[in-house]
Amino acid sequence: MSNQNPVFIPGPTNIPDRLLNAMHMQTRDHRAPDFVETFAPVLNDCKRVFGTETGQVITFPSSGTGGWEAAVTNTLSPGDKVLIARYGMFSHRWIDLCQRHGLDVQVIECPWGDGAPADQFETALKADTEQQIKAVLVTHNETATGVRSDIGAVRKAMDNAGHPAMLFVDCVSSLASMPFDMDGWGVDIAVSGSQKGFMLATGMAILGVSQKALAAMETATLPRTFFDFRDMMAANANGGFPYTPPLQLIYGLKESLSMLFEEGLDNVYARHHRLAEGVRQAVAAWGLRLCANSPELASDTVSAIYVPEGFDSNELTDHAFNKYGVSYGIGLGEMNGKAFRIGHLGDLTDVMVLSGLATIEMAMADLNYPIELGSGVRAAQEFFRRTAAGQAIDT
Ligand code: PLP
Repeated sequence: MSNQNPVFIPGPTNIPDRLLNAMHMQTRDHRAPDFVETFAPVLNDCKRVFGTETGQVITFPSSGTGGWEAAVTNTLSPGDKVLIARYGMFSHRWIDLCQRHGLDVQVIECPWGDGAPADQFETALKADTEQQIKAVLVTHNETATGVRSDIGAVRKAMDNAGHPAMLFVDCVSSLASMPFDMDGWGVDIAVSGSQKGFMLATGMAILGVSQKALAAMETATLPRTFFDFRDMMAANANGGFPYTPPLQLIYGLKESLSMLFEEGLDNVYARHHRLAEGVRQAVAAWGLRLCANSPELASDTVSAIYVPEGFDSNELTDHAFNKYGVSYGIGLGEMNGKAFRIGHLGDLTDVMVLSGLATIEMAMADLNYPIELGSGVRAAQEFFRRTAAGQAIDT
């Protein structure tokens, strides 16, 4: 029998059949009029998901990492100063990317499990009296630690400091799953990808770009070719691409947007929050601890969970895969061996989440974890029973 189990990694997500079908298409000519007619509305519809009316959406055939690179190279010049906090593997990698591009990177070190330190950003920006800092970079949802940051608070800190730096936000694992308000938060570049909230195959970086960032593009001198906004925007303006587009992904994105809008973005966010809360109830019932250092930091798309002292989280995730055929996220960076992650984003239901909780519970029991078999599932069941909306099944 083939393994039909869902994955519980925090992206790529399980791909709904509807999107698999949308991507299952024969080659078409990307210079033909029907592609031209398809692509422009897709870009426009993405704006609703970013929460921007004044910004522009730009995509590249790439994963999210390419989106980071596009953000930086299109707006900054060698030696430019950027401010960024390190509180997990993905903020760490964005720092590394900036350093490798020859930027002057001011890093605020934070405990992993914390979110973006708005107060420390404010202090650093106030101290920058010559306004050398060109951009503040923030990972909205740190997928390694299951921590969501308060981007509104970062914007407020920047405003309090009266600092004109741009604000770049990595929303790779939050967009289309958790509320995002690009215009309201004054975000200049928001970086996302196709394989998380959009529930598609990996391969498309999706960026929201403000007018301020587009203005910075005119003077930025970091080298860029493949990721040059100007080439992409010029081609997009005529409904085309500067090189061969990922056609199947674009048709998939069109369908993904339809799915998100049919459910309603607010309902999508509420569903993620509720499912995440069910997982958190299970974690508490197991007597285990989230990596997120306080409850309001807990992400609605991924829960990172410390294993008890003396246990190896890699052994747990390997065992769950080998014995039950179910994947969970491993601990990344300094969390490796100490924590595992349950991804709960994309096209998920109560039933799917319960199966993920039940399976990791079996794996923990097999490895003699000090948990009571069934306790986490029961806690989530109770929560889901209390909060279910009640759905009529079409017959
Ligand atoms: N940023 C965050 C928060 C992520 O979770 C990821 C991937 O998981 C990335 C960036 C990198 O994206 P990609 O793996 O698509 O290059």
